[in-house]
Amino acid sequence: MIQEPLAPSSVTANSGRVLIADDDATMSSFCARALSATGYTVVTAAEAEAAITTLQTQGPFDLLLADIRMPGRSGLELAQIAREIDPAIAVVIMTGHSTVDTLHASVRRGVADYLTKPFEVEELRLVVEQALHKRSLLQESLRVRALEELLRSSEAINAILDRNQLAREIIAHARAHAPGEAGFLFVAGSDHLPPRVFAEPAGAAIQPAGREAVAQSIRAGRPLPVASAGPLALLEARPLTYGLAVPLRAHGAAIGALLLCGAEDALNAPGASEFLALLANQAGNALHNAQLYSQLDAAYNSLRELDRLKSEFIAIASHELRSPLSIVLGYARMVHDRSSGDLREYAQRLLTGAERIKAIVNDLLHLRDFDRKQTTLTLERSALDALVRQAVERLIPAAQQKGQDLSTNLPPEPVILDVDREKFLLVTGNLIENAIKFTPPGGRIHVEVVCWPHERLAAEIARAVANPTMRRLAGAAPAHWALVRVKDTGIGIPREQQGRIFERFYQVASSLTREQGGTGLGLAIVCDLAALQGGLVWVESEEGRGSIFSFALPLP
Ligand code: ADP
Repeated sequence: MIQEPLAPSSVTANSGRVLIADDDATMSSFCARALSATGYTVVTAAEAEAAITTLQTQGPFDLLLADIRMPGRSGLELAQIAREIDPAIAVVIMTGHSTVDTLHASVRRGVADYLTKPFEVEELRLVVEQALHKRSLLQESLRVRALEELLRSSEAINAILDRNQLAREIIAHARAHAPGEAGFLFVAGSDHLPPRVFAEPAGAAIQPAGREAVAQSIRAGRPLPVASAGPLALLEARPLTYGLAVPLRAHGAAIGALLLCGAEDALNAPGASEFLALLANQAGNALHNAQLYSQLDAAYNSLRELDRLKSEFIAIASHELRSPLSIVLGYARMVHDRSSGDLREYAQRLLTGAERIKAIVNDLLHLRDFDRKQTTLTLERSALDALVRQAVERLIPAAQQKGQDLSTNLPPEPVILDVDREKFLLVTGNLIENAIKFTPPGGRIHVEVVCWPHERLAAEIARAVANPTMRRLAGAAPAHWALVRVKDTGIGIPREQQGRIFERFYQVASSLTREQGGTGLGLAIVCDLAALQGGLVWVESEEGRGSIFSFALPLP
């Protein structure tokens, strides 16, 4: 039973555009009046073909209300075509009688609801309102999906640091959401990278009008649609005259632009330009990061090259010095042994100088072998305390010469370890020698051997060590460590330089260091040799008060 529509004043106001398709003029006008009275804008069509034309020429509509039975196409066919024209349109079907079959067919064609005739005004309004509500929920979920896609796109592009790969990925994401036939990415140059234009697909070529469109969008600082008389780009020699140019920015500066060329409809699909603007934001930052990364990479490469040259210099110098030095040493020794008086004394000075050169050459040879991974270990079961005593005894004369007190504290029980004795003596000797060198006359040097559980060692390093690389304990931690600790009351090392003294050629810039000479290689060798035996070396020091150098080896 058909009821007269209510007066407009008695209902809540709605908005939205409704297309009614029904060949029954009375029914069509009843619905039109009922819906107009509630605030909807209504257009009517007397059959499916007329409705399709209306959808195409007067769209978009929010809702299609169609009778199931019409001359020509049915309401269900019309529903399907309407959704093809506008996937977001809500469809309500009016039927004389509803069966399970019609219901299924309706659902398959994306129909939101149906009304069984006869229906009352309130029922019509309610169904239309619900269908539009469902539609807005659907639109909301489409927006959420677009945001999810943007998030996925931005995750993907932010993970890429290679500029070329990144550029291709940005164009691919842009084309996936604003289906342009060809995409171009303009990237400004940097110190290390020239400016570049990337094109996708391979057969696409940018034209002067396209470049101008890009420049305009950069100047405008916002996405610009461009309809050009001449071609913006060519795709396999086919001119593309419509495009969307979107500037890319990073940290407030323009660093490039994206140009998509193709069909106007596709590029202006709902949400496409918004997606592109958001993507451009992400892309600008990702490109900026990629540029920074490549600068860093270039800097690393030149550092690596410098390091290689340094290693090469070490290898050549040590090798080339070795032979003439053994000749000098051999003859100096011979002259020394066969002479007397002044000549013997001169020969002794010659020998002392040559021995010093030999020590430097030996240091260089150690580093060369280490760089070539040719340093080998000859492990022998040894008592650590006895080795330490041996190293100390060798250096007692040097300490005495400076009036220093060189003392030891060795454990009552021998500490047994498999070590390369020669290399152990070299490391320990080097640490004691440095202590003597950097402690003024009259100072004290104390050498002790202790055993610590791993936890104590880790805690001690975390507490005392300025150099974080020393905090990384190598490999699987042993339960216990044997430590040789060399303590002095010398000049100490400024905290900020404590990490650097283990680098090759590094010396603390102080007048005493300069007085003492040296090459800055000793601690680098100590570190390399300690690491080779699974051990570590670190320093605790206070300027003006002294230093403690610790050399730890894992206990079996
Ligand atoms: P070299 O002794 O030949 O200069 P090293 O590699 O053995 O080279 O030492 C590097 C630098 O570390 C030294 O030049 C010195 O500045 C500092 N250093 C090493 N040991 C000590 C120490 N016991 N006390 C103070 N400074 C030291």
